[in-house]
Amino acid sequence: MNNVDMNSDLYNIYVGMDDTDSVSGMCTTYICCVIMDRLKACGFRVDGPPRLIRLNPFAPHKTRGNGAVSFKLVLKSKKEVKTAKNLILKMVEELAVMEDPKTNPGMVFYEGEITPELQDYAWRTIRTIVTQEEAEKLAEKVGAEIFKFKKGRGIIGSLAAIGCPLTDATYELLAYRDPANYGTKRRVDPESVLEMDRKTYPATFDNIDDGYMAITPHTPCPVLYGIRGETRAAVEEAHKLVKVSEPVESFRVFLTNQHTDMHLQKVDAISQMNQFQCYIVRGTVKSPPVVIEGGHVIFTLKDESGEVECAAYEPTKGFRDVVRHLAPGDQLVVYGGIGNKGTLNVEKIKITYLSTLYEYLNPLCECGKRMKSAGKNKGYKCPRCGSKIRGAPPEDGKIKERREVERKIKKGFYEVPPSARRHLSKPLVRN
Ligand code: ATP
Repeated sequence: MNNVDMNSDLYNIYVGMDDTDSVSGMCTTYICCVIMDRLKACGFRVDGPPRLIRLNPFAPHKTRGNGAVSFKLVLKSKKEVKTAKNLILKMVEELAVMEDPKTNPGMVFYEGEITPELQDYAWRTIRTIVTQEEAEKLAEKVGAEIFKFKKGRGIIGSLAAIGCPLTDATYELLAYRDPANYGTKRRVDPESVLEMDRKTYPATFDNIDDGYMAITPHTPCPVLYGIRGETRAAVEEAHKLVKVSEPVESFRVFLTNQHTDMHLQKVDAISQMNQFQCYIVRGTVKSPPVVIEGGHVIFTLKDESGEVECAAYEPTKGFRDVVRHLAPGDQLVVYGGIGNKGTLNVEKIKITYLSTLYEYLNPLCECGKRMKSAGKNKGYKCPRCGSKIRGAPPEDGKIKERREVERKIKKGFYEVPPSARRHLSKPLVRN
């Protein structure tokens, strides 16, 4: 009887949904909103905000940001429960992009407490790769009902969206477009977004990137813009400040695990890291960073257990300038995930120690002028008075003058810009 609220004979039903959209369109959050609106119109009570839960950014079948959603229904009778479930399933079937071979919707209904086992499963879905079999077994064990469309892979995310604990959380207000405008340029006034940011940052964040608005997606999906922030009130206030010249069909505030660093696991050694997982790891820079084709900046991080190649890819823009100035011996805490090539994709770094760098200058002549090389292994000659130092210049700095080079970067945190930030990655402003 744990599915019934004993005080009032109400039925608490958690609804989880995932894998309903495709790269060519639609969005699971939008389908969730349409369903919630219909449920409300039918007289069913939706309790609290819907939740948008981001899962492992390296999950193999993700369409974009690997998001799943859940919401809670509070229903009065078994008949209501049955009717609501049938309505939801029918709507998912109608609205999901079933014709896309990669879309495999999965729905979960769960009546009862969110147990530690469900929470643990959610953590694993955010941090590792889980199998559909694992999700199905757990659903059976806890008595959650699953509904699979096609392969039904979405049940992995749906169950995690229901189970995910939110000790830290943020909000996102999603504004949706009139379907007639899908695929066209979004008509959002950039000046109003700048103004909104001036008035609401840091209660809202990631609105602007390098002077440009960052709240509009670039995909043909139903989302007009998304405003992320610390509280419901903050994102609602910000939404009122954004001016658009196209209709907003609807908007809704989601409670989310976005920007909480929930995906990151602390490890003590580089050798403990695995592919397709995200970490916080300490290490020392092994060799000078190199810029490779495409503008990506690569360096090697080492510790006693091993080493890992780290990358600040081209989309991380100005962040690469910091990474380029790292030097052997610098000590860092790196936050990031290991992708399919085994490279640690850096989200942010904390520089804890900067090594001292030296440059070696030709010796100064007694006359005060800096000497010039007299040729390979031929010592130095003063261009002013002609004095000479014979022999090969030793590298120990006894003849050459050793001078400390000013480091171009300082100790502390550095992060990628909003446009390159993972949904789960916590911006420094939230620290
Ligand atoms: P959008 O962000 O537009 O909603 P998406 O990026 O969330 O799209 P989905 O279409 O939901 O992508 O596809 C992701 C698929 O991967 C889902 O079927 C989900 O159940 C599954 N999945 C999510 N996390 C994991 C994980 N950790 N391990 C294995 N599968 C996962």
